[in-house]
Amino acid sequence: MISEKSESSKALCVCPECKNTIDLSRYPNIAPGMVIECNHCGMTLLVKEIAGGNVQTEIVDEGK
Ligand SMILES: [Zn+2]
Repeated sequence: MISEKSESSKALCVCPECKNTIDLSRYPNIAPGMVIECNHCGMTLLVKEIAGGNVQTEIVDEGK
């Protein structure tokens, strides 16, 4: 079985708040520990892990 599709190394990130896909083109060097912002709802998110092109994020509770 040949399934070697060279997808562009585009990571995908779904906002845990609004469930929209966040535009990561603003973050070309995204890495765990980085804080990004959802371009849909403005939520601040902490990048926890990038696995298999999926960016896992956690909502940052601001104002702590
Ligand atoms: Zn959002």
